[in-house]
Amino acid sequence: MIPKDHPRYKSLLSRHKVVDAYKNGILADAGMIAHGRGEAFDYLIGEKTTKTAEKTIEAAAASLILAKNPVLSVNGNTAALVPEDIVKLADILDAKIEINLFYRTPQRVKTILKVLKEAGAKEVLGTDKENLEHIEGINHPRGDVSPEGIFNADVILVPLEDGDRTEALVSSGKFVIAVDLNPLSRTSKTASITIVDNIVRTIPCLIEKVEKLKKYDKDELKKLIENFNNNINLRDSLKTMLSSIEDFEKF
Ligand code: ATP
Repeated sequence: MIPKDHPRYKSLLSRHKVVDAYKNGILADAGMIAHGRGEAFDYLIGEKTTKTAEKTIEAAAASLILAKNPVLSVNGNTAALVPEDIVKLADILDAKIEINLFYRTPQRVKTILKVLKEAGAKEVLGTDKENLEHIEGINHPRGDVSPEGIFNADVILVPLEDGDRTEALVSSGKFVIAVDLNPLSRTSKTASITIVDNIVRTIPCLIEKVEKLKKYDKDELKKLIENFNNNINLRDSLKTMLSSIEDFEKF
């Protein structure tokens, strides 16, 4: 039990969720290492959603609202940390949920499907191995995607993705929204929009923004996307990290 008044309660809670998910077969061992890399970058942004990330989440929300076939891609880390929030986001967007895994095994797909169903998901794509299409440029099972989901999606949310798949999705003409605490990753640099924030804060914030922006008209939403520049976003996110290091020098 982590005491609730522990100064890093939320971070430790996430860490426990990740460890439990590994023990329960939701997460591959490498998923724990990816989480650790994320934690280090989270420390540098003060473990809170920065102003830059909030603006980015707004642009992401606008893109998801305007999408014709939005899809939320779920991997082990996402299923471990935010299954209920993903289901809620899919509901308010009328988006599809698709399981896509780097370390795909039939057992892991089954376990994640159970987690998502228990979180309230009505339909989950990407579970029927026989019924998947292949996306060009990914020489790996995670290139196998559902024809109703990622294959025909126009906007895809890909939390904690790796660079190869992001690149292949962007090359196939998709608008890719990544959630990645590391602004220097290949994913961050390749995605159409990169939310440099922890997924445990991003998805609730995205839900809030979608609920607010749904009342806006199309032109206003388009403007939000047009005014967004991912290079500036990544630069500003790095500046926040660097200034937190500079602040330490004052000690
Ligand atoms: P790339 O191939 O894009 O260069 P990578 O090799 O680092 O990235 P992975 O090892 O799959 O890719 O790591 C996934 C990314 O997810 C890491 O960059 C890590 O910082 C980030 N990450 C880990 N945990 C979280 C989290 N809770 N929220 C957001 N991002 C996270």
